[in-house]
Amino acid sequence: MATLDLDADKLQENALTSIRLGIEDFQRSQVALDQGGDPARALSAVRNLFAGVLLLFKYKIAISVDEPSDASSLIFNPPEVLPHSDGNGGVEWKPSGNFKRTTIDVATIQKRFKGFNIDVDWKIINKLQDCRNHLEHLHPANTLGEVAGFVAELFPVLRDFVQIQLNKQPAELLGAAWPTMLESHNFYVKISAECAAAWANADIPEQMQPWLYACRCEECGSSLLSPHPEDLEEGYGVDRQDDIFRYQCMACSHVDLIAPLMIDALNDAYDYDPRDGGEPGVEDCYECGRSTFIIQEQECSWCHATLDYSQCKVCEEPLNQDDQMNGGLCGYHLHVYEKMRDD
Ligand SMILES: [Zn+2]
Ligand SMILES: [Zn+2]
Ligand SMILES: [Zn+2]
Repeated sequence: MATLDLDADKLQENALTSIRLGIEDFQRSQVALDQGGDPARALSAVRNLFAGVLLLFKYKIAISVDEPSDASSLIFNPPEVLPHSDGNGGVEWKPSGNFKRTTIDVATIQKRFKGFNIDVDWKIINKLQDCRNHLEHLHPANTLGEVAGFVAELFPVLRDFVQIQLNKQPAELLGAAWPTMLESHNFYVKISAECAAAWANADIPEQMQPWLYACRCEECGSSLLSPHPEDLEEGYGVDRQDDIFRYQCMACSHVDLIAPLMIDALNDAYDYDPRDGGEPGVEDCYECGRSTFIIQEQECSWCHATLDYSQCKVCEEPLNQDDQMNGGLCGYHLHVYEKMRDD
């Protein structure tokens, strides 16, 4: 079975070129058009960074074995293995054809890493892949803040990978791209911490806290959202004045209400598909009217409303918000009780 030639050094070179181009695109994308920038480059920034990181991963796989032929068998897609009759009532599995010209995808890289005990934070790589996939369908201007967030999050992943897996210094390997990533990362971490500190004074309902961190600016996709200083100054609280309390995006200055974003984030997390036989996870709360009543917990994440009657007094079937008018009976036993009374 013939393998293809693989030049590991060339892989590394291409990886670094791609990452450098990605960072250049990123820099240009973050500057406004009238100041010589080009927001449309956000898309190529993510594409280049993604491609570069994957090439660097493939390079690592290639240098994990001694023989170049082994390296290429790990990087190129293997031929399909198909069953053949051995002529004696048995079965033989044989590869059909040669190694393909295409190289392995993210999912296969992940498997190779596992097999070779190479550790990577896949969460951020998968996020970068998601970002790339959905960027293709969006106007780049709507995702500038998101791209900045990804570059910032990619930084520690890339740093650790270069240091631990490649035994090299990122500054040497990545040249001018490195300080840009570092700066973007530090900026992001600093502003993130400032935002979190400011929200601590905005009276977010406790169980809604996790959803605050899932909120993204509706204009640019950034997660760097801060409570609006005027609303803080007025002494407003998100728990009480969710119909007026605003966020301010630290990336693009967009201002809008924070509560709907948090409630959307919660509902997205409990999203279900009725076609798969799924059940809704969230419903409108009968107490506060918000779409924040978690059915499984029978409690509202916003106002902490719970049920007076959690199960039927007769059959112990769990009750929901709709059954609370029945005085602690399920629909069936209420019916039985009413019938008994009328007879
Ligand atoms: Zn924004
Ligand atoms: Zn409620
Ligand atoms: Zn019952």
